[in-house]
Amino acid sequence: MAILHNLGFPRIGAKRELKFELEKFWSNKISEKTLQNTAQTLRAKHWESQKDLNLVPVGDFSFYDQVLDTSFLLGNIPDRVSDLEGGSLDNYFRIARGRSAIDTGCSCVHAGEMTKWFDTNYHYIVPEFTKNTEFNLDSSRLLSQVNEAKALGHDVKPVILGPVSYLWLGKTKDESQKIALLDKALLAYSQLLAELAQSGVNWVQIDEPILVTELSHEWQQALSKAYQTLSTSSVKLLLATYFGQLKENLPLLCELPVAGVHLDAINAKDEVAALIENLNEQQVVSLGVINGRNIWKTDLTALLDWLEPLSKQLEQRLWIAPSCSLLHVPVDLNSEVKLDAEIKNWLAFATQKLAELSLVAQALNEGRDSCAQAIADNAAAIESRQNSPRVNNPTVKQRVASITDEMALRQSPYEARAAVQKEIFNLPAYPTTTIGSFPQTTEIRQARRQFKNGDISEVEYSKLMKAEIQLCVDIQHELELDVLVHGEPERNDMVEYFGEQLDGYAFSQFGWVQSYGSRCVKPPIIFGDISRPKAMTVQWSEFAQTLTDKPMKGMLTGPVTILNWSFVRDDQPRSTSCLQLALAIRDEVLDLEKAGINIIQIDEAALREGLPLRQSQWQEYIDWAIKSFKITSNGVSDKTQIHTHMCYSEFNDMISAIADMDADVITIETSRSDMELLDVFDEFNYPNEIGPGVYDIHTPNIPTVDYMVTLMEKAGERIPAERLWVNPDCGLKTRGWAEVKPALENMVKAAKQLRV
Ligand code: GLN
Ligand code: ZN
Repeated sequence: MAILHNLGFPRIGAKRELKFELEKFWSNKISEKTLQNTAQTLRAKHWESQKDLNLVPVGDFSFYDQVLDTSFLLGNIPDRVSDLEGGSLDNYFRIARGRSAIDTGCSCVHAGEMTKWFDTNYHYIVPEFTKNTEFNLDSSRLLSQVNEAKALGHDVKPVILGPVSYLWLGKTKDESQKIALLDKALLAYSQLLAELAQSGVNWVQIDEPILVTELSHEWQQALSKAYQTLSTSSVKLLLATYFGQLKENLPLLCELPVAGVHLDAINAKDEVAALIENLNEQQVVSLGVINGRNIWKTDLTALLDWLEPLSKQLEQRLWIAPSCSLLHVPVDLNSEVKLDAEIKNWLAFATQKLAELSLVAQALNEGRDSCAQAIADNAAAIESRQNSPRVNNPTVKQRVASITDEMALRQSPYEARAAVQKEIFNLPAYPTTTIGSFPQTTEIRQARRQFKNGDISEVEYSKLMKAEIQLCVDIQHELELDVLVHGEPERNDMVEYFGEQLDGYAFSQFGWVQSYGSRCVKPPIIFGDISRPKAMTVQWSEFAQTLTDKPMKGMLTGPVTILNWSFVRDDQPRSTSCLQLALAIRDEVLDLEKAGINIIQIDEAALREGLPLRQSQWQEYIDWAIKSFKITSNGVSDKTQIHTHMCYSEFNDMISAIADMDADVITIETSRSDMELLDVFDEFNYPNEIGPGVYDIHTPNIPTVDYMVTLMEKAGERIPAERLWVNPDCGLKTRGWAEVKPALENMVKAAKQLRV
């Protein structure tokens, strides 16, 4: 009998209930008690929807982030909140977001650093360490949730982040080695396991996702040591890895003295045989057979064909689960009432994935005949997707197949193009520009909503948008910016806007996935071959250009970013979908050029985050990602200036790829680094033009002229002045005009000062 379990369930709620409640709490509209009650109700609901499992996860719920929860569980709480008033939850939110609901005025502290959780779009709060870090276990929250679930009649399996991954994910604030804290951490973990055993827990899932990354010898040793120590506990440990292959860490994993191992049998399917061979006959083998990272139905027939022999071989040692926590998928497909019925039939969100799991268990335990109808329905859905003309577009496939190397190359090298462009645009030294969007006011959002709901006509909508564009152009004239933008009022989101206009894309209404804290994203779904039925941005840019004699920059999102912020197909490589997107956006670039738009910006905000978990796989990604960008951008004539924008600045390990993109101008985020992040461009002798952001648009602060002049002077120490542009760090859509106008006024003044 295969045991069914789950590694984690989305906590945000099918209708983002937790988000709204948290935000109410933060703005003092509800009490902590109300917030706690909502949380308890949500947990109960989520366990209820997992009740078919043999073991439900406990400890996966979080008010903000599970890594921050671990810091509080272990009592590793930064000193800066130790003397502040309020309780543990207040300090928790202070580290999460710089303030708690009880903080008024300026009693804020700086929030913990936030960074991406492996290769997902989930962000965790980075644990902070010093050589003096002490752990001080506080298991009250976890134990009370264990009791809560038990009281509701569930068999529980607490889920905790393992000690070695916890240390690995953190940062030391002094020069000390965080790995030196392992012994102390293990004391806290041993105590935790003892307390869980005492409260009647039998199995604990302990996550060590770092096992799918390249580990130095000392981190590998830390894992051996940790599990030697923790194996003396009386609870059984299920050591979980996910998101990738174990490769050289597989022998290490198999030697750890744990009661069971969970492996991602989607991403590491080819390692399952070796895992089974190397574990001993007492150890549980948990296979993550349902993809926890996508929204597609599982091909149950194919899965059962593969799994049945393993089930016979392993008997009661086999456990099955989703590949990873379901945190990374939306909650319930049943909420989707507007989704096209045919496409909906191809999809599974968290709730549906658990139903698939139950079905697999039933088929394994009682035979496929016991659920023949459900398996037949699944097979029909899989077949319908495989053969649908909506998925397969031979024209698109043909176009991708006939991509040539020339398509990725500009007509002339940068220097020759730069000379031509200099003549045409005749821009001053230190040209000024912005990154694209201007403040998105309530009126703009309302107009977009009304148009979407059919409350205003297309003519009316277009009039409103054009008025907004006119306003943006007028303000930019007044500010005396050199290269203008139309302001992007018509765009809700830089990916969704394009996805909505491309064939091969579908949209959910409630397909929210937690990104960080209360923030969720709703990735569009690529279901088929992608093509562009008609121009997507030309009418707006063309109109905007009629309002000015200055160059109007066309504004597009690049193929890699569109791909990385979407749910992607599992029936073709990411690289193929990316090339399809590249061709569609290339057509848009060429249409803009034809319409007289001579400067075109192609944003690649998410290029870096697509890097694979293992560095050994980076080059392959970089190759197709950069190729896709170049196919998009490089069909234009020498006279057209291509810009790209990236809102991060860690270019150290990919500077040659950035140079290879060969954009005429790249604008990047640098203001917070004091321009030090330009060092790598300097060392590399990066040849093209750069606009290092001179002010941080993430804060409402208005930068002074002097501040920006000083920053640009620092930039000038690294990059020759004739190749520098002056611009903010990123788009301005989240700011108000009251901040944007004076900030840009100062920015233009700074540029003028630099010119003399
Ligand atoms: N052009 C986009 C904007 O200005 C870029 C956004 C981004 O880089 N995240 O909003
Ligand atoms: Zn940006």
